[in-house]
Amino acid sequence: MNTAARTSPLDPRRLAGPVWVVSPHPDDEALGCGALIAALGSLGREVHALLLTDGGFSHPHSRLFPRDRLARTRLAEWRTGLALLGVPATRTHALGLPDGALAGVAPAELQRRVARAFVAAPPGTLLLPWRRDPHPDHRAAWEPVTAAAPPAARQLEYAVWLPERGEAVDWPAADEARIWTFAVGAARGLKARAIAAHVTQLGGVSDDPDGFTLAPEMVKRAVAGPERYAEAAAAGLEVRA
Ligand SMILES: [Zn+2]
Repeated sequence: MNTAARTSPLDPRRLAGPVWVVSPHPDDEALGCGALIAALGSLGREVHALLLTDGGFSHPHSRLFPRDRLARTRLAEWRTGLALLGVPATRTHALGLPDGALAGVAPAELQRRVARAFVAAPPGTLLLPWRRDPHPDHRAAWEPVTAAAPPAARQLEYAVWLPERGEAVDWPAADEARIWTFAVGAARGLKARAIAAHVTQLGGVSDDPDGFTLAPEMVKRAVAGPERYAEAAAAGLEVRA
């Protein structure tokens, strides 16, 4: 996010815990927040991860990876990537909702399921995709996830597809949000490995020519950083410089 909005460096020590990172799909957290998650882990902070969909729609024509197998494999990839970033499997929570069809889930139902996941360790800080990140599942997630969080939780919205697919109207407006930047720095290697854990999204499913593959340029951009987090003006922050 490189809009006219005010930009400041993010200090992970100032984020209230527990920190929850919400991913509509396995890999969103590694691409969007891998360095911040690693930094929080190295500070000994409690980080939880919540996966909304089963990720099972990325290769719909694969015979080697029918939907069940693909979903199981992607869940394992998600946990492997998170473990590299310091989040143990015991702090991972997966809802298994339909990949590519989150907008078809009743918002109240999604909110209820997310709220139930939050009960054990209510978030002090929530990382979730930017409200207008250009993917239908990301957009469908924003309102129910926001509504499920405790009102006092700080909400930082990360971009996944915005730089590659975003229209001008999708970016945060100058008076809409404050943008926090987090340099990948020393976490570069860990972030690259966490993204690389998503083998099925990097050419690992070879028998579906229509299947999804992360573009090398996008991976390169994500690994290089900086990561950017938008915090909405509604949070009460002064957003103008
Ligand atoms: Zn996604």
